[in-house]
Amino acid sequence: MTHIFHRNPRQQLDFAVRGEGIRLFDQHGKAYIDASGGAAVSCLGHGHPDIIEAIKRQLDQIAYAHSSFFTTQAAEELADFLQQRAPGDLNHVYFVSGGSEAVEASLKLARQYFVEAGQPERSLFIARRQSYHGNTLGALAIGGNAWRREKFLPLLVPAHHVSPCYPYRDQQAGETAEHYAQRLADELDAKIRELGPEKVAAFLAETVVGATAGALAPVGGYLQRIREVCDRHGVLLILDEVMSGMGRTGHLFACEEDGVAPDIIAIAKGLGAGYQPIGAMIASSRIYDTIVAGSGFFQHGHTYMGHATACAASLAVQRVIERDQLLDNVLARGEQLRGELRQALAAHPNVGDVRGRGLFVGVEFVKDKESKEVLDPALQVHVKLKKQGMANGLMMYPMGGTIDGVHGNHALLAPPFISTPEDISEIVARFSDAV
Ligand code: PMP
Repeated sequence: MTHIFHRNPRQQLDFAVRGEGIRLFDQHGKAYIDASGGAAVSCLGHGHPDIIEAIKRQLDQIAYAHSSFFTTQAAEELADFLQQRAPGDLNHVYFVSGGSEAVEASLKLARQYFVEAGQPERSLFIARRQSYHGNTLGALAIGGNAWRREKFLPLLVPAHHVSPCYPYRDQQAGETAEHYAQRLADELDAKIRELGPEKVAAFLAETVVGATAGALAPVGGYLQRIREVCDRHGVLLILDEVMSGMGRTGHLFACEEDGVAPDIIAIAKGLGAGYQPIGAMIASSRIYDTIVAGSGFFQHGHTYMGHATACAASLAVQRVIERDQLLDNVLARGEQLRGELRQALAAHPNVGDVRGRGLFVGVEFVKDKESKEVLDPALQVHVKLKKQGMANGLMMYPMGGTIDGVHGNHALLAPPFISTPEDISEIVARFSDAV
């Protein structure tokens, strides 16, 4: 009998007792390939000696110093590292402890920015259906996952949603990517006008949608057109790269591939690679300078922000990724993963789409490939798939039947960046078998 109530009490979980490379081991000694990095977290796999060493070194020096009394070398170096590599003028880093906190801080920063800029009436947020931005009340209010929201209505903030960029389902036959992207940008433009541009603070979107849609990457030009619409109306663009950022797509920041820099970006998961809990928001100089010139500082804060051990672990993670040129491997292994999955599942009547960027890969299941009719959510395909995956010694991240608009069933694969070609083929074999 467990006294932890993290989960459904009917779910019996084994103990994770050890991790090594891309594998986790349970108390019986059974090995599982961590093909989802947990939830797209463990990008360096488990037990990486360089990260463990960095954490130990930091613990020997100082584990925690409250951010209102001291800064630390680890936090300063990590902030430097991030701002040097972040796109556009994203130069100011705010550390938190995870993804929801990073999104929550981004929403509050946008609000304070407009207060300082003399436009306090800009308080509304627009996001997209089929999105997840976290479970805290603010982030939940903005997100578009019906199942997560329904028990908590009415939420703190009114939600305003537009369509996600979902070419597999929404790009019409014969419609070019440019036209599709423009159609979505026009929809956002219309939504901003409907609400009143002077009332809208920000548009929030995942660069590549993760948990709610299975590695849904935008079509070329989509983010650029969205950026233009936001600029036209003085609305901030916040990108949530909690899942898709920090190298997962083969670029440190996923939006680099789209040639777009947001005003604020939220990152987490891969930043600490699971070795320590950490997240961050990076803000543009325009936002930062306005707040500093106004009331002086961002009125926000958490006890553990800039935690020394978490920052030391993250810095070590990011240095290993650069030193070992792992983003090249992410691109190559991602191509391999999608290619082998398409081949292995080509004849399967219920596999509708294999998609993604880098090692962020989604497989969407349908009732019928031609009509793309969705699977009956009552079949609970995602539950069965996870169970069969675990039986096959494979951790993946299936979702289904719970999402606004489309009762989509899909599985997300997000293997560690250190995966070898043989690892990827093994993942495909176990995954296909489970399917
Ligand atoms: N945003 C996105 C895109 C996410 O995928 C998640 C976590 N799945 C979050 C925010 C929330 O992050 P956390 O669970 O660390 O609070």
